[in-house]
Amino acid sequence: MKQFADIVLPLAQPTYTFAVPDTMEVSEGDAVSVQFGSRRYYTGIVWRLHNEPPKAKRIKSIERKLYDRPLLDAQQRTLWEWIARYYRSTLGEVMRCALPALIKPSADSAEQFLEEEFHPRTEHYYALAEPYASDEQALNTLFDQLERRAPKQYAALLEVVSHPDLKARGEVARRLLEADRTLLNALCKRKALLEHDHTPEVEYGTPQFRLPTLSEQQQTALNTLRKEFTNGKHTALLHGITGSGKTELYIHLIAEVLSAGGDVLLLVPEIALTAQLIERMERIFGARVTAYHSRLTDHRRSECYLRLNRSQGGEFVVGVRSSIFLPLKRLQLIIVDEEHDPSYKQAEPAPRYSARDVAVYMAHARGIRTLLGSATPSLESWQNATTGKYALAALTERYGEAQPPTIYLSDTRRAAQRNERQGHFNKLLLDKIEATLARNEQVMLFQNRRGFAPYLECPTCGWTARCPHCNVTLTYHKQRHEFVCHYCGHRTAAEVRCPSCRVVDLQPMGFGTEKIEEQIAELFPEARVGRLDRDQVTSERAFNTIINDFASHKTDILVGTQMISKGFDFERVSLVGVLNADNLINNPDFRAGERAFQLLTQVAGRAGRRSTPGEVVIQTCDPHHPVLQQVLNADYHAMARVQLAERAEYAYPPFARLTLVALRHTDPQTLHGAALALATELRKRFGRRLMGPITPPVDRIRGEYIAQLLLKVEQGASHLRANDLLSEAVARLQAVPAYKSVIVSINVDPQ
Ligand code: ADP
Ligand code: ZN
Ligand code: ZN
Repeated sequence: MKQFADIVLPLAQPTYTFAVPDTMEVSEGDAVSVQFGSRRYYTGIVWRLHNEPPKAKRIKSIERKLYDRPLLDAQQRTLWEWIARYYRSTLGEVMRCALPALIKPSADSAEQFLEEEFHPRTEHYYALAEPYASDEQALNTLFDQLERRAPKQYAALLEVVSHPDLKARGEVARRLLEADRTLLNALCKRKALLEHDHTPEVEYGTPQFRLPTLSEQQQTALNTLRKEFTNGKHTALLHGITGSGKTELYIHLIAEVLSAGGDVLLLVPEIALTAQLIERMERIFGARVTAYHSRLTDHRRSECYLRLNRSQGGEFVVGVRSSIFLPLKRLQLIIVDEEHDPSYKQAEPAPRYSARDVAVYMAHARGIRTLLGSATPSLESWQNATTGKYALAALTERYGEAQPPTIYLSDTRRAAQRNERQGHFNKLLLDKIEATLARNEQVMLFQNRRGFAPYLECPTCGWTARCPHCNVTLTYHKQRHEFVCHYCGHRTAAEVRCPSCRVVDLQPMGFGTEKIEEQIAELFPEARVGRLDRDQVTSERAFNTIINDFASHKTDILVGTQMISKGFDFERVSLVGVLNADNLINNPDFRAGERAFQLLTQVAGRAGRRSTPGEVVIQTCDPHHPVLQQVLNADYHAMARVQLAERAEYAYPPFARLTLVALRHTDPQTLHGAALALATELRKRFGRRLMGPITPPVDRIRGEYIAQLLLKVEQGASHLRANDLLSEAVARLQAVPAYKSVIVSINVDPQ
């Protein structure tokens, strides 16, 4: 019997040692309740059991063991440890992020903790009582009696008996019955029925799936993947243009694993945007599909975790990045769809992990397979695939009759000179919208900015409204007549007159989705217009309404931010318009070119997904920009070649690894002192590999000033070791009394 347990608590702290009471049997990975600090009760995870008495004189005991089995197995504990080390966080921070909130309650008293404890939902079931279950004669007699004396009970019993579940499983859930509860109770009293509660079990049936027949090219790609996986490659990249049938390939690979009793995890960028994908998977895999995302209630997520923790295998989870932490004990295959999507990386809070990169790590560590899929792979994955680290398979044509869309670059400056511009629309785009609507087809319009105008400016004195807490201009939202800060959410009633010269009307500068919606309604009064952006999508319901209206052609035009770029498959969309590509390509970020190519290609991919040929109009001041030319020619390889050459020259990923250190403080003097001290210290060790202190484009958010340092470690050098040294230097800085209150966060592989 081990006497002590090192326990992970959901705090940014190391593990703490507790005594294991003699009467308690715990194992590593178990969840327990402990009392910690002055009064608080927490859920903790038993990380290590041992017999080494800790130095502290008084040591507390574990209060109670929770759940009937460990919440984490050895593989998951290894994963947490790897994430904590690689992404420089504590195990407690991993715990906070990895486990759904309700299964790890904390409370101010033991009684309150008991109340907060999570119990999975149970359902009420009815079964036939004996002798009726086994004696048909007796059952018939009962029916005869009821028919005469209690016709309503007769009907209720008939419903239970004729329900297919009764035959298949010997019981029927009350949820599935129409009969009144009082009638069912009466039948129980009569000892005709038995009632009991238990957690619902999911019935999967035999794993036989109706799989799509693949085209020749799809079959070749699938064979390549199978062969490479069998030959020992752990990770593969599937580069397939939009509409080429990557999903159909996934389906074949998923079916193989499920048939053999293994688990599959399909990672998707943002679940609401992939409702269609889930539906498609459910059509083939039925009840096996478990969706896991942030829009589920906490209750559902907690139940899902516990259910999977008991599962015997054959599970198929479709989920967002945090589903990488689910207890899939027979995980054999991870698919990362749209692997280039930045939302796989958690920016805040720690651990700042990338689910895609974790999936690649897991493939290697567990000897399983990870498939990355994209029409526009990240340059990191592309480099790994072309240098042979990953396997590579390609789909170069759209499935069936669907053709790639025709893309037009429309010069906004020239249109303005020729007076061929109304509002934010060039004539070319307007003509095509008109023609599309006339054919009774649909249009999607993309503008990478929500709100009405990014800012209002006084034409006389240049005054603009700025956020009092952040160093940015406020965005004007016309519908609510408000100024909104897109960094901290600060809002105020919008001014109409310039507050500094008082006479002049403020002019909207730039434009967002709201303004586009307004202009399109003026230009095409007959068209029904919907808008999809974060302001409109206040709930899952609101989101679904907007999408369903467009899918069922209740709206003709959908205006949106990049929310509309991902994954959608609308049959009748034959025109996609991009209102302004310039802010994408001119972003001051080393990934701007790659991102612009990815986003524009994705948006363009929404057009002409069926037999109707698609058209895409991209408005820009700079139609000769190389990235736009690459989009025009659908030439991913050219984009990759050019961008990779630049990255190699300036030592950016994938030729170097980056770690971004952000320092925050309300006092700019303290902040700069700390940033300089840390930079000086690190420079001694890393020399020119350390850059900064840098002032980020937005250098004040929510009243805190921000400074950054960037560490670049070229390929070949040990990045893990460098980050260890970096963490040590940060710890030393935080031990200096003057800098104690400076908040330092480390972001490994920032996006
Ligand atoms: P991607 O994921 O590469 O964008 P999809 O898998 O969504 O492409 O395929 C595009 C469209 O073509 C979908 O409507 C899909 O059902 C159809 N499709 C692709 N391959 C097949 C196939 N082998 N059999 C039937 N339909 C297919
Ligand atoms: Zn003014
Ligand atoms: Zn703000």
